[in-house]
Amino acid sequence: MATAYLEEVNPWEAQVARSDLAAKKLKLDEGLWKILREPSLEIIVHIPVQMDNGTLEIFTGFRVQHSIDRGPSKGGIRYSPTLTLDEARALASRMTWKCALVNIPFGGAAGGVICDPDKMAKRELERLTRRYTMELIEVLGPEKDVPGPDINTDEQIMAWIMDTYSMHVHHTVTAVVTGKPLELGGSHGRNEATGRGLMIVCDEALKRLSMNRDQTRVLIQGFGNVGSNAARLMHRRGYKIVGVSTSKGGLYNKNGIDIDALWMYHKRNSTLIGFPGTEEIDSEELLVTDCDILIPAAVENQITSRNADRLKAQILCEGANGPTTAEADDILADKRVFVIPDILANSGGVTVSYFEWVQDRQGYFWPESEVNDQLDHTIRTSFAEVLQYAERHAVNNRIGAYMLAIDRVAYTLRQRGIYA
Ligand code: NAD
Repeated sequence: MATAYLEEVNPWEAQVARSDLAAKKLKLDEGLWKILREPSLEIIVHIPVQMDNGTLEIFTGFRVQHSIDRGPSKGGIRYSPTLTLDEARALASRMTWKCALVNIPFGGAAGGVICDPDKMAKRELERLTRRYTMELIEVLGPEKDVPGPDINTDEQIMAWIMDTYSMHVHHTVTAVVTGKPLELGGSHGRNEATGRGLMIVCDEALKRLSMNRDQTRVLIQGFGNVGSNAARLMHRRGYKIVGVSTSKGGLYNKNGIDIDALWMYHKRNSTLIGFPGTEEIDSEELLVTDCDILIPAAVENQITSRNADRLKAQILCEGANGPTTAEADDILADKRVFVIPDILANSGGVTVSYFEWVQDRQGYFWPESEVNDQLDHTIRTSFAEVLQYAERHAVNNRIGAYMLAIDRVAYTLRQRGIYA
């Protein structure tokens, strides 16, 4: 791959390209930005795991804490064969800005293990998760660093983390992770929260652009936690979902897909392919297919300098973290695409994670309607604040979102006097 393209798709470079620009527009003091820009702690662990066939394997894992200035650090655990430290750094720093944007008292963290869960047995994954947790035991905790789910990690993995931590401290500590099963201190609405947040920001964007929901065609890349929940909720609200994809391929029907039926089909067959009444479409092709809203909800670097000029969508709503490169941003701006940046669009997940943490610490659990109402309020408020900020400073939505978030964290740092 050409060096320039490799730089374009490096997650950390892509992340700091935007935050550096936002800090510059804010005219932030250089020294202060030096503190805010870099992660405060980076841990690499090499974890021995006994495999089911008796052999020993060593897996490499990371945990990056970007900031603890506004509260404990918070962020996902990702299991992926291609995970890198730069990816974890980028995710951790993005979480700092995301939490500040929705104004919840967390800093950002991220981590995970280089592994391929598709090729591992459940017991192997459990041993890996428990050992990874033990390696990090001193830095985790409800007041320190609170992991949550991300790619290839689910509520079972969160339950194992919670159990391992609790055994170590000799009492049950539910607030050490979020995204847990309901019976173990999870929150109603957490599973769908990121997808619900995507729907709320799309509703708000339609209002801004005077578009009609029932005539709005949506394409969604990714049918995991984020993509499938967004598809289901948006389908029920009246959006026309015309295409979806997973890493195994995608489907398209210009008249709309019955997402409830597809959900059941995907559950039964672990693939979308073969679902009746649709044509197959390549996942890359799906991104440049005609639609009104495009929701990348899979992995990084899907919209780059190589395909951004071919996008047809009027609205790009970023379900995934980092689906668009900084180079692609410029092309999308020229095309006047309305971008709802990841740190706003997918912030529903961490918002309800915050509600889960609050409920765990109170020992008092809210009904689902309360969770959804509070989420709705938080996301709509943040959407309005980002647009106002972007308009006031004559920048695009992404840079507006970063400016607002960086401004909030910088303010906290000045108030605390760290920067005295
Ligand atoms: P997941 O593991 O549940 O699902 C990932 C989905 O993406 C799967 O359907 C997979 O097949 C698909 N996929 C992977 N590569 C693809 C490709 N090249 N083309 C099409 N599909 C592809 O993960 P998730 O939790 O849904 O997370 C998805 C994204 O959303 C990630 O970027 C994650 O960081 C971000 N995110 C997740 C949450 C959350 O609450 N889970 C919150 C905020 C952001």
